[in-house]
Amino acid sequence: MSVELRRNGLHLTGTPLSLDAKRKSPLSFVSHGHSDHIARHESTIATAATLRFMAHRLGPVASPLSVPFRRPFELGPLLLELLPAGHILGSAQLRVTRADGKRIVYTGDLNTAPSLTAEATEVATCDTLVIESTFGHPRYRFPPRPEVLGQVETWLRAQLNRGVTPVLLGYPLGKSQEAMKQLALRGFQLVAHPSIFDVAELYAELGVPIENLRRYDGRVEPGEVLFFPPHLARGGALAPHWPRATAVLTGWAMDPGGARRYGADVAFPLSDHADFPSLLRYVKDTGARDVITCHGFAEELAQALRDAGTDARPLGKPQQMTLF
Ligand SMILES: [Zn+2]
Repeated sequence: MSVELRRNGLHLTGTPLSLDAKRKSPLSFVSHGHSDHIARHESTIATAATLRFMAHRLGPVASPLSVPFRRPFELGPLLLELLPAGHILGSAQLRVTRADGKRIVYTGDLNTAPSLTAEATEVATCDTLVIESTFGHPRYRFPPRPEVLGQVETWLRAQLNRGVTPVLLGYPLGKSQEAMKQLALRGFQLVAHPSIFDVAELYAELGVPIENLRRYDGRVEPGEVLFFPPHLARGGALAPHWPRATAVLTGWAMDPGGARRYGADVAFPLSDHADFPSLLRYVKDTGARDVITCHGFAEELAQALRDAGTDARPLGKPQQMTLF
C-alpha cells in the first residue's frame, strides 16, 4: 500500500481516497482546517471540528462524513481510523488497514508537544508512514514550549511596563488560539483581530473557551495585548497604535532574519509543527518500516531516517497523467 502525488494532491494508491487534496476530489480525507489542506470536495472525511473550520472558510461542506477519533469505520475493503495529530483543534492522522492487516498512516500536519487547545497526539502505530516534514531539517530544534512561552511573557511585560502596545502576530486558526489560551492563563488581557476572534468563538463552541479575550474594534486599552494576523500587520493597519512593539510566533523564528520576514521586531519559536528531533522520535515510535516524507524538508528528513536505519524516501513529483 502506498501513496502517489496526483494533480489535485496526495492519493492513496488503488483506492478512491485522496488525502488533503488541494482541489475538488470525489472523496478526500481532510486532516485539519488550514487553508492549504482544504477544498470543496464531493465527499469529505474529517473530524467535526475540521468540518466546522471548513464551513467557516468555504461555506457549507457537501456530503460530510464526521468521524470521531478512535472510531474505526469501513470504506469498501479498508478499515479507516482517525487519531489526534496535536497540530490544531480537531487535527487528525488517518490510519488505513487493509484486509490483510497491513497498515498505512498519513499524519497530515503533526505536533507532538503538549497543547492546551489541540487534542493530545497519539502515536499511530503502522507498517507504512506518510509523514509531513515541514521542519524536517536538523537546524530546527525548538526549545520546550513552556520556555518559549516564558520568553513571550517576559517580553510582553517589558513592553507593557514601558507603556508600549505589544502586538503578537500569529496564524488566525490554531496558533493564535493556543497562544491566547496560554497567555490568558498567565493573566494577560487580550484583544484579537476579528479574523482571530471569530475562530476563537468556534473554539469555544467546540469546547475550548479562551478567557480574557475581546474582539478588536480599533482600540487597544492600556495593559492589553493585541493579536493580529501577520498578513494584515503590514501597511497602515497598526499605525494608530504607537508606540508599539511586534513579535511573531512561528517555528521559522529559528531562521536568521525570521522576525524581519514578518515585519516584526522579534520572533519566538512557538510552532504547531513537530521539530526535527520530534519527527525522528515519532517515526521510531510508530514502528513503521517504510516511511514516505512530504512537504518542506522531505529530502533531508528521509536522508536522516535512512542514516538511522529506516527505509525512507521523499514523495515523488506529481505524475503527468491522472486516471480520474
Ligand atoms: Zn496546518
